[in-house]
Amino acid sequence: MEYFGVVSLSTLWLLLALRYTGREKWLASAKLRLLFIVPILTLLAIWTNEAHGLMWHQVVIDPSDPFPILYWMRGVWFWVFTVYTYLLLLLGTILLIETVVRSHDLYRGQAVVLLIGALVPWIGNALYLFGFDLFGRLVPTPVLFTFTGVAMAWGLFRFQLLDIVPVAREAVLESMSDAVIVLDEQNRIVDLNAAAQSLIDSPTSEVVGKPFSQLLPIGLDSIQRWEERSETRNEMILEDEDHKQYTFDPRVSLLHDRRGKLAGRLLVLRDITERKQIEEALRLARDQALESSRMKSRLLANVSHELRTPLGAILGYSEFLRDGTYGSVSEEQVDILEKIIESTSYLSRLVSQLLEQAKIEAGQTTLNMLPFSLQELVERVESKSSIEARAKGLSLLFRLEDVPNIVIGDERKIEQILLNLVSNALKFTGEGEVQVRIYRCDEHQLALQVTDTGPGIPDDMREEIFKPFRRVDDSVTREHGGIGLGLAIVEQLVMLMEGRIELETALGTGSTFTVFLPIDYEKETL
Ligand code: ADP
Repeated sequence: MEYFGVVSLSTLWLLLALRYTGREKWLASAKLRLLFIVPILTLLAIWTNEAHGLMWHQVVIDPSDPFPILYWMRGVWFWVFTVYTYLLLLLGTILLIETVVRSHDLYRGQAVVLLIGALVPWIGNALYLFGFDLFGRLVPTPVLFTFTGVAMAWGLFRFQLLDIVPVAREAVLESMSDAVIVLDEQNRIVDLNAAAQSLIDSPTSEVVGKPFSQLLPIGLDSIQRWEERSETRNEMILEDEDHKQYTFDPRVSLLHDRRGKLAGRLLVLRDITERKQIEEALRLARDQALESSRMKSRLLANVSHELRTPLGAILGYSEFLRDGTYGSVSEEQVDILEKIIESTSYLSRLVSQLLEQAKIEAGQTTLNMLPFSLQELVERVESKSSIEARAKGLSLLFRLEDVPNIVIGDERKIEQILLNLVSNALKFTGEGEVQVRIYRCDEHQLALQVTDTGPGIPDDMREEIFKPFRRVDDSVTREHGGIGLGLAIVEQLVMLMEGRIELETALGTGSTFTVFLPIDYEKETL
C-alpha cells in the first residue's frame, strides 16, 4: 500500500507543473493517461516481486548491527522506474524553472517555493540511491518530504500558491486590447503585453530593459502628468509607418513594493481611435445640421423680407384705388378691391409670421425693455380685433384687473402675443364670446388670459399646436387660413421673456390660454 504514493509521485508532479504553468491543453489530452502505465506496472511488479524479483532480487537482513537493517537488492525494473521517475521530475522542474525566469516577483516566489519543495527530497533520494550514505543507511526521502510539506504550506499561506495562478494574470493581460507596459523605477520596460508589442513593433526580448522613451514618443513629463490626473481624460496620438494616426487614452498607476517604496509604473494605453472617429463624425453631422438650419432661417428671412415690400405696395395702392384717390370706382370695383386688400393683408400677415419665426430661430430676436402703458396696449389690441369680432357677431371683452398702468417690458412683443391669442380665439370661435383678462398674479408676474367659447383643442394636440406649422386637423381649423406659426411664435416669445404659457381646454366648451410674464413695475406707479 505504501507504494501507491511512491509510484504516482513523479507523474502527479508533472501534472501539477503543467497546470501551474498553464498548459491546460496538454492536461486535457487523453494521451496523458499513458503516463500512468509505468507506475501501474511498477505497482504490479512490487506486489508480485516474490515471483520474479524484478524490483528487488533479494532482501537480506544485516544482523551484524545491534539494530538489524533490511537491505533491498535492486532489480532491473527498479532502475527502469527510477529513470522514469527522474525524467518526469526533471520535466516538471524545467517547466517551473522557466516560469521562475519569466515571472514577476510574486509568482517567482511561488515557483521557487514549489521547486524547493520538489528538489529537497529528490536530491536526498539521488544521493541515497547513488550510495552517499548521509543518514546512516536510512532512506532519507520520506523524511525530506517534511521540507516539501513546510515549503508548500508556506507557499500556500504566503503566496496563495494555488489561488493566483500566474497564468490567469498572463492570459488576461495578453488578451487585452489595451497596451499594457510595466516600467521599473528608472522607467525601463520590464514587461509588456501583446497589444503593447504590436504598438512598439519589436519583439519583447529586444525591448525589455530599454527606457520606454526610446521606443515610444512619450516624454517623461507626460507620464508624470498622467499620473497626477488619473480622473481626467488625457489623449495621446501615435502614428504608424503609414502615417495612420491612433488616439490613446493613457493611464499611469504607480507600483509600490511591500515597504511602500516606488517600484515602477504601470502604463496602460487604451486605443480610443474608433471612439474619437465616431465623436468627430457626430460633431461634423451636428455642425452640418446647424449650418443647414441656419441657412434655412437665413433664406426664410431674406425671402420674407423681399416679399413684404411688394405686398405693402399692392396693399397701399389697392386701398388708394378703393378710396377713389385715382378717380371714381364703381361699387363692383370696390368689392373686388376689398377682396384684393383682404387677400393681400392675409398674405402680408403670413409673411410677417414667417419672418418673425425665422428671426427667432436665427437667434436674432432680442428684448427691448422699456416702460409702457398697459392700458394703451390693450386699447390698440382692442381696436385691431374688434372689427373681426363684430363681423362674426362675437362679444369681445377686455378687463384690466389690479395692474399698474406703467410696466417695464417689450411692448411690441407683448402686444404681438396678445394679438395672436385674441385673433386665434376670434378665428376659431363660431359663437359666444372672447374674454381678455390682464391681471397681476403676484408681485413679479403679470398674466394675460384669453378665454373663448370655441371648439376647444383635443388632448393629443395640446402640445403639438405650439410647434411650428402644426394645426389641429379638423373642419374648424381647415375652414380658416393660417400656417400654424402663431402659437409657435407666441411660445417662443414667452420663453424669451422667461415666462410660461398654460392652456386649459375642453372639446366643445372652449379654450383658455394664459401667459405668465415676469414683469417689472415703475416704482412710482406701484
Ligand atoms: P394658425 O392659427 O396659423 O393655424 P396657430 O399656431 O396660431 O396657427 O395655431 C395652431 C392651431 O391650434 C390652429 O390651427 C388651431 O387648430 C389650434 N388653435 C389655436 N388657438 C385655438 C383656439 N383658441 N381654439 C381652438 N383651436 C385653436
